[in-house]
Amino acid sequence: MSEVIRSTCPYCGVGCGVLLKRDGEIGLKVEGDPDHPANYGRLCSKGLALGETTSLNDRVLTPQIGGKDADWDTALDLVASKFKSAIAEHGPDSVAFYVSGQLLTEDYYIANKLMKGFIGSANIDTNSRLCMASTVAGHKRAFGSDTVPGTYEDLELADLVVLVGSNLAWCHPVLYQRLVAARQERGTKVVVVDPRRTSTCEIADLHLKIDIGSDVALFNGLLAHLKQQGQIDQGFVGAHTDGFEAAVSSAQEDLGQTGLSDHDIQAFFALFGQTEKTVTVFSQGVNQSSSGTDKVNAIINCHLATGRIGKPGMGPFSVTGQPNAMGGRETGGLANMLAAHMDLENPAHNAAVKDFWSAEAIPATPGLKAIDMFKAVAAGQIKALWIACTNPVVSFPQAGDVAEAIKACDFVVVSDLSATTDTAKLADVVLPATGWGEKDGTVTNSDRTISRQKGVLVPPGQAKHDWEIYAEVGRRMGWTRAFDYQKPVEIFREHAALSGIAGGFGRDFDISGLSDIEDAEYESLVPTRWPISAVRQGGRFFGDGQFFTPTGRAKFLAVSSKAPATKRLPKYPYRLNTGRIRDQWHTMTRTAKTARLSRHFAEPFLQIHPKDASDLGLKPADLAQITSPHGHAILRVLVSEHATLGAPFAPMHWTGEYAPAATIGNVISAATDPFSGQPESKASVIAISKFAASWYGFAVSLKPFELKTEYWAQARADKGWRAEFSGTDDVSDWASFANTLMPSLSQCAEMIGPRAARFALWEDGVLTAALFLSRGPVLVARDFVAAQLGQAAPDVMVGQPGANRPNPGPVVCSCMNVGRNTILSAISNAPGASLDEICATTSAGITCGSCRSELVELMKMPRLQQAAE
Ligand code: SF4
Repeated sequence: MSEVIRSTCPYCGVGCGVLLKRDGEIGLKVEGDPDHPANYGRLCSKGLALGETTSLNDRVLTPQIGGKDADWDTALDLVASKFKSAIAEHGPDSVAFYVSGQLLTEDYYIANKLMKGFIGSANIDTNSRLCMASTVAGHKRAFGSDTVPGTYEDLELADLVVLVGSNLAWCHPVLYQRLVAARQERGTKVVVVDPRRTSTCEIADLHLKIDIGSDVALFNGLLAHLKQQGQIDQGFVGAHTDGFEAAVSSAQEDLGQTGLSDHDIQAFFALFGQTEKTVTVFSQGVNQSSSGTDKVNAIINCHLATGRIGKPGMGPFSVTGQPNAMGGRETGGLANMLAAHMDLENPAHNAAVKDFWSAEAIPATPGLKAIDMFKAVAAGQIKALWIACTNPVVSFPQAGDVAEAIKACDFVVVSDLSATTDTAKLADVVLPATGWGEKDGTVTNSDRTISRQKGVLVPPGQAKHDWEIYAEVGRRMGWTRAFDYQKPVEIFREHAALSGIAGGFGRDFDISGLSDIEDAEYESLVPTRWPISAVRQGGRFFGDGQFFTPTGRAKFLAVSSKAPATKRLPKYPYRLNTGRIRDQWHTMTRTAKTARLSRHFAEPFLQIHPKDASDLGLKPADLAQITSPHGHAILRVLVSEHATLGAPFAPMHWTGEYAPAATIGNVISAATDPFSGQPESKASVIAISKFAASWYGFAVSLKPFELKTEYWAQARADKGWRAEFSGTDDVSDWASFANTLMPSLSQCAEMIGPRAARFALWEDGVLTAALFLSRGPVLVARDFVAAQLGQAAPDVMVGQPGANRPNPGPVVCSCMNVGRNTILSAISNAPGASLDEICATTSAGITCGSCRSELVELMKMPRLQQAAE
């Protein structure tokens, strides 16, 4: 039996521990680590499928220059010389790094040291800017430091958990399951503040379906209410804070703008006011806003006013999107931070880091934040750009502009796992980097716990670790000693030692207790929450009333609500809310590699309120075209009461590789928060119309598709691929049209009618491809058809299982592959059964639990509707 190795999931900021076992090939067996304090053995659907995502089929295995294979020496010399010549000719600010929350802390540390310490520019920013920069700015304004005060245990110790702009059930599923378990045990009250009814609302005692952008008004109203009701902790406010009266003065807001009923507002205020043990969790719904920083401070104000911070079961709590967003913040991966939570603009901090690194000069002012960085690229100010482990051509707002900027840049290098991401395709040089399972280092999760990620698999081809690539370039640029590292533990020791200097300045981030860590201790480092110093170990911050501002007192911020940056216009009457779905991660570069995670939603969609759909003449399964001042996208219509009236929702994951017409970044405005520079990704104005399709198609194939239709979206099936597609072509002859779509179908069985046609191809006795075309949305049981690939498949042309075979319906539980029809049938056969009983009968929801909220929704459906589905 092979060795079990402890590591960490590479997806969300929960940072779950995993146990890995090699399968002898390139795959891994993955289980939750029962001893990891983030998850105690639990994993969500994404974490459980990790072992299925390590295939090498899209990996870049050698450096590439101009799309052609090259050797490392040539590629690294070219990168070093291009950066050096740009700096020599145009100065250090003519180059930039755009990095990623997927990087490990050791990678981040070296990238930041190279840019800020030696190149001499602060032009390094990370995709965490799109994720939680508003929290960083809000924390620093209130606390004087970017400190998460509490721990995950606080969600279990609280009597009230307020979730603001957080679909915890889908975006941080294991933390959600911990909350569900605590709620069952102690009756925790849960309030969800979200314009949309998400799966998280299934456990909400109160769902405040707030109007987009009005969170500041709500929390200002709460602050004013607390004052009026005499529920302020005067002792804490007087001894440990400044600015309370000014904050209360600006908190007198019209609560009508929240769109909430007075009854619901008062219920929330009363609950908050009366519940000492309250945690307010906030996430992207707060951060991704043109007033995100003010929203963060409006929340923090209420916790400071009640003294509910840094004590068991109390505090504001930011949950990060990415696995190492916190590590990036700790190493200075943002353009406005130095390293170890020190400040660029602070001369003492700046000089200390310069001495520590033996650097020539460290910039004293912030560099370009992400959105400004790519504007500078477009303007020709950035002559050499290095993008690592991220895909801005998809994930950025106004993504089309980013693509044009990259194309126009003199020199672009991308270090990543694949050369086929939408961004890597535009690079001059692609450097093959190692990925999860191959990399070795540390990550920090949302509650400040540092965990090890382990290199279990041999790096494929010539792939190198990111820290190694940056260090190699640093050495070739002339800084041999500063970048002389042999292994990640050396970098970690240096990072920990530098944090000790920060600790000497009284900063929060101090892990100097690990600065002498031996190689073997680093190998077996158990999850450890910082700070880790001679004077402080883990725990919570601020319960003692000591903050990191110059006065040591927290600051209330006088904030007032502002409407989203872009205004609704008659031409663009809707707002687009965006976010994640349960089973995909970011731009799908890893999660799309497994069929299991593609079953829940196999194509991009627009979740739209029934009234909006009716006004627009949209029916379920139609295609909608959304248009903004910046671009357009085509998405499948999903009509749902859960959507917000006037503000439909679309997922942010799909890319040019999987659905080129559905890249949501093309539609989103690049308006940013003035303090954090974070873009407003959830409130862009759009118009919606029905995509005037003249035909629709669904197909499966053992080989990948090569589609060129106006709309297509492909996903993996267990064997091969599945795809939806559509267009406006005038189709008169189904057979010849089918051959233009899939030439392999020229010799196949067919059923052709005036409004629809079906084609299927068997080779060597097994189904290798099938195509269903129709004048309207195609009506077939897709999971059934996809499962026929590689089988004898006698019923495939019927498009659904025969009467003797049940049709499980679309997948709800990806772990156990349980369909909606199976669940509805179990509900209908056992009236009054509990959720646990339905789970036990169907096997849905018994593994990771991420689908349990959807099961609850199905159980709540009226019985007649259940039967009809
Ligand atoms: Fe990974 Fe899921 Fe845990 Fe997030 S909640 S770290 S995605 S297993």
